[in-house]
Amino acid sequence: MIAIDGPAGSGKSTVARAVADRLALPYLDTGAMYRSVAFTVLRAAGDPDDLEFSANAARSMELNLSDDQVVVNGVDATLQIRGPEVTRAVSAVAANPLVRREMVSRQREWIERRGGGVLEGRDIGTVVFPDAELKVYLTADESVRAQRRAKEVTDLDYQTVAADITRRDTVDSTRDVAPLTEADDAIIIDTTRLTVEEVVTRIVELLPSSDAEQ
Ligand code: C5P
Repeated sequence: MIAIDGPAGSGKSTVARAVADRLALPYLDTGAMYRSVAFTVLRAAGDPDDLEFSANAARSMELNLSDDQVVVNGVDATLQIRGPEVTRAVSAVAANPLVRREMVSRQREWIERRGGGVLEGRDIGTVVFPDAELKVYLTADESVRAQRRAKEVTDLDYQTVAADITRRDTVDSTRDVAPLTEADDAIIIDTTRLTVEEVVTRIVELLPSSDAEQ
């Protein structure tokens, strides 16, 4: 099991998908899970800061995550979970310990059923799978992370994206439960000046050879 953590725009999703592809392993984007909970709360006109409301939304959420589609309670939410409303609400929902308990348990079940995989998020190496064979923590300069995100979301300008990244990083790394931080035994890779290919190769080389040959 490979854990890839890091802040917004550090390259996690692109790199984790590519590592999973290279090793023919299943891939789970845990950020999409928290985004789906935020989507459910907003769709029900709930308040993302309401702990019980969000917890109930998380527990009852029927989620279908595939490579190119996210279906939440029967609704295709692929685009909306990346939109500005969900992005604004997600960190509050993810700071809720009751929501986290439900998501962590689903993530562990996901891995158990598959017997391995590549998981990316904020707390995979620290909380979800402290025994992962390989823990990677990706970082990058804040301006580079904002540039990457600004390229992905074409309807928002650079300043808005940069402000959002700063705000989310602050909430994510200062929350009480499972804050964004590197595990003591994580390998830290600064992706500021690296291509996706270079980061992927570095990660694959870090694996014990039997895993890399899979
Ligand atoms: O990775 P992505 O930017 O899609 O994650 C969205 C949000 O979900 C993060 O800002 C964070 O608040 C939350 N998250 C989390 N723990 C994870 C993955 C994501 O708290 N393992």
